[in-house]
Amino acid sequence: MDFKTLAVHAGSFTDETAGAVVNPIYLSTTYERNQAGEIAPKGYVYSRHANPNRGALEKLVAALEGGSESFAFSSGMAATMAVFQTVLSPGSHIIVSDDCYHGVTHLLTTQYPRWGVTCSAVDMTDVKNIEAAIRKETALILAETPSNPLLKIADLEGVGAIGKKHRILTACDNTWATPYHTRPLQLGIDLVIHSSTKYFGGHSDVLSGMVVAASGLEISERLRDFQAVGGAVPSPFECWLLTRSIATMPLRVRQQSASAAVIAEALSVHPAVERVYYPGLSGHINHAVAASQMKNGFGGMVSIQVSGGRAAALAFTGKLKIFRHATSLGGVESLIEHRLTAEGAHPKSPENLLRISIGVEDTQDLLSDLLQGLG
Ligand SMILES: *Cc1c(COP(=O)(O)O)cnc(C)c1O
Repeated sequence: MDFKTLAVHAGSFTDETAGAVVNPIYLSTTYERNQAGEIAPKGYVYSRHANPNRGALEKLVAALEGGSESFAFSSGMAATMAVFQTVLSPGSHIIVSDDCYHGVTHLLTTQYPRWGVTCSAVDMTDVKNIEAAIRKETALILAETPSNPLLKIADLEGVGAIGKKHRILTACDNTWATPYHTRPLQLGIDLVIHSSTKYFGGHSDVLSGMVVAASGLEISERLRDFQAVGGAVPSPFECWLLTRSIATMPLRVRQQSASAAVIAEALSVHPAVERVYYPGLSGHINHAVAASQMKNGFGGMVSIQVSGGRAAALAFTGKLKIFRHATSLGGVESLIEHRLTAEGAHPKSPENLLRISIGVEDTQDLLSDLLQGLG
């Protein structure tokens, strides 16, 4: 079945009580046992372990990513940490993208050193840099493509091949591309991570994360156990909201990507814009790799550097009427963010860099708003 059909149907289950077409929400935290004290016929015991709404969401996301199973968490960071906790051991070394989500850098540099875990941040636009950073203790390679906020592209087939050659697990944070554009497991990656707070939720009202495993992965069993016993799980209501939102994800992302392409192109020739970062532009340093591993477009995220430094960048955000100045991304509403301010303890962005999340509003309305702001 096509991706759009799966998005609508792969998370539906049959409601035996009322025949509802839409999944009912099971808020019960506990499930009855039979007289012998055995687990009741539907297999549920306690909702931290499993519940029908989480099961539906996990089936849906596994189908969209082409994985064997998926695991829902209470945030993207909880999902990332579940991968770290199950794959790494004291003394392990991890290789991450030098432009990965700043929360991941924060976690690895402030919390994990106490557990003896070391980390190398490498430029993954050339996969040779990954191979050069491998040590005998390297247990995980975590790619992020397009990366945050510079939209660097990592060649996932290359990353997967390096992992297989050196017997190191590979993971990809696929939050920005979504499986609508890129399916890392099909390119040889072992684990996919999502902040489903973003495009999956799509309405800036659910915090959650997902991990998806390729088939035959030994670590799956440990991940399932860590999810249940670690307990950083989303509520049945949040799972239901996500299942509902994912049904329209292909439509939203298609619109967001189409608008982003038009906007990136227009801003790339604007005199008040110093530089545009968008993998769909032919001048992007890894455009060819992006074109081969991203289908149906290049995503709804665009970063720009405004001429005139920090003050000019902030003044521009203040003039916008549709774009709201706020962090996060992937929602129906367009957002713009002065990234350096948001990066807190781990600043890395140029002071005139703005990160733009294109929403589902009309393309021309969005472009007009940006152009009037630039003056
Ligand atoms: C937002 C984000 C995260 C963190 O997810 P939360 O749901 O905020 O915990 C991780 N990776 C990427 C690429 C993100 O955009």
